Amino acid sequence: MRAWRLPVALAVSCFGCVGPLANLKEVARTPLDGVPVVLRHAPDAQEVELLVDALSRATPAVRRWGGLSTAVTLHVVPHHRAFERALGRAEPTLHAWARYDEILLESPASWGADVEQLRALLAHELTHCVTFQRLGTAQDWQQRVLPFWFREGLATVTAGQAADFPTLEELAGALRPVPIDEAFDRAERSVSVNYRHAYGLAHHAVVFLLRRHGDGAVPQILAALREGKSFDDAFKAATGVERLAFEHDALNYIRLRGFRGWGLPLKTLPSPRAK
Ligand SMILES: [Zn+2]
Repeated sequence: MRAWRLPVALAVSCFGCVGPLANLKEVARTPLDGVPVVLRHAPDAQEVELLVDALSRATPAVRRWGGLSTAVTLHVVPHHRAFERALGRAEPTLHAWARYDEILLESPASWGADVEQLRALLAHELTHCVTFQRLGTAQDWQQRVLPFWFREGLATVTAGQAADFPTLEELAGALRPVPIDEAFDRAERSVSVNYRHAYGLAHHAVVFLLRRHGDGAVPQILAALREGKSFDDAFKAATGVERLAFEHDALNYIRLRGFRGWGLPLKTLPSPRAK
């Protein structure tokens, strides 16, 4: 369903170069804020209308972080077996995977998706495309390393997928016995067996980021990455806070149930660039 474990995905140089996609034909072209999403589908496809509808509903998500700069090709394969063949590996719980300018999607008919589920998934994957296009070029985006929580949390928040993951109360309980320095790493390492926890933690870390630093921090981080900064340096430049300090604050906010409203309210911090 989601594009996780990015370094492994990078083993696939492009979806369009692999055998299972050879039979797909261009069946539609949907502009998202003027940049086309090219829909490639099997010739007997019955679901082009559903896909175009879901794509148009995903437009606000695409727009939020500055929009696409390069056209995206959406390859729709008929079933999960073809999806895994195109991906080059077994991924029993995924239905889609994003790269810089491509999305590989298992046909919504094969996993019973309605238009809202499809909108959320496409918004998630398109957010990855926008992120990758903003942080680098087609040649160097794979060299920019993002923390799992930032990459996936940004996509789940933008796609409005909170209901798919544990609540803050559930996360607070799960995090209680975990050393704070290990919480994000452990969650990422366990994603294949407990993806709801890993994605839930990522989701709420990004909610915390946006509440504290505002939406403006995200394009600033991506722009600094594009300039060649590491994520940690980009994060510090955009927020004025060390990444590790932010992670501790976010984890303590969840673990100590700051979301219940005890103590001082969470304040938006000024951007260092606004000074
Ligand atoms: Zn993802």
